[in-house]
Amino acid sequence: MFSGVRAAETVDVADPVLRSPTDVILSVERTAICGSDLHPYRGEWGDPGGQRPGHEFIGTIVEAGRDVRSRRRGERVLCSGAVGCGECPACAQGLSAACVSGMKVFGIPMMTDYPGGQAEYVAVPSADFSLLPIPEEVAPEAALLLTDNLATGWQAAQRAGVREGNSAVVVGFGPVGMCAAMSARELGAWDLFVIDPLGSRREFAASLGYRAFDATPEAEAEIVELTGGGADCVLETAGRDASMRSAVAVAHPSATISSVSVPSEPYSAEPSERRLPTQRFRSSVASPQRAWPQLIPRLGSPALARLAEIFSHRLPLARSAEAYALFSERPDECRKILFDLTL
Ligand SMILES: [Zn+2]
Ligand SMILES: [Zn+2]
Repeated sequence: MFSGVRAAETVDVADPVLRSPTDVILSVERTAICGSDLHPYRGEWGDPGGQRPGHEFIGTIVEAGRDVRSRRRGERVLCSGAVGCGECPACAQGLSAACVSGMKVFGIPMMTDYPGGQAEYVAVPSADFSLLPIPEEVAPEAALLLTDNLATGWQAAQRAGVREGNSAVVVGFGPVGMCAAMSARELGAWDLFVIDPLGSRREFAASLGYRAFDATPEAEAEIVELTGGGADCVLETAGRDASMRSAVAVAHPSATISSVSVPSEPYSAEPSERRLPTQRFRSSVASPQRAWPQLIPRLGSPALARLAEIFSHRLPLARSAEAYALFSERPDECRKILFDLTL
């Protein structure tokens, strides 16, 4: 629970109840902090006091409403971070982010009044649409990443049009950038570059076989040189003006720039005149339900083999204050935090 700006604490709360016959209650097994939980934590959207964050969680169904058709008590499931109505034409295609009732993300009060899943129990609306049983071979870390970050990274790569043999640049190597890079490699980007100002992230990128660069004009020029005039596909995942400028700088005149970040500030970057005629820019947020059937059969592939390493810290929920401070203030030491309720 947030108790104010840059203040998280672990407190006792009332058990959730079924609000609608299509809801279920989950006993949460594991949950993660997302970069987008930092927007309310840092007070970017007003005082977050009293808000319970968390839209990345997996758990077991302990109670199901009478109109829940495809899910049942006792099932171990992962939950989409983006909740749709489950019935409109967009939802029918898995596009929860484009739901006619508006995209809803747990724990973000301007989107939904359903509290987040960084808790022992959480109520999930539209359960038939929001939940997916976790296949036995899928590790808990991969299941958690399927709720949001991996689906988001995958969508970044797909919408950048990555195909076998393309060169690709991932700008920003936070957890979504890591998933975006792994997805781009899975789609055939063997010539894969990463731009991030943090040395520890560049080291991790290099360990995964990507060519890692600092966020400097010299590095951008080098990438343009190495890719023969700019990358075919650019995946922007940081949401900063500087990262968008880098993305434009390293893109080939015929490139697609795909952005999946939540902007933290206005962008001043624009494609240069030379590039304007053919460069494409696409911005989107993920619809995890759409990505699940594409990603699950690929989880065993070499490009996605090291997903679990995205989590640098595993903590009990009781240490939420420390976890948020660490993730927000020391990104050079912390890739992503998993709250493990089985600890
Ligand atoms: Zn998220
Ligand atoms: Zn819908």
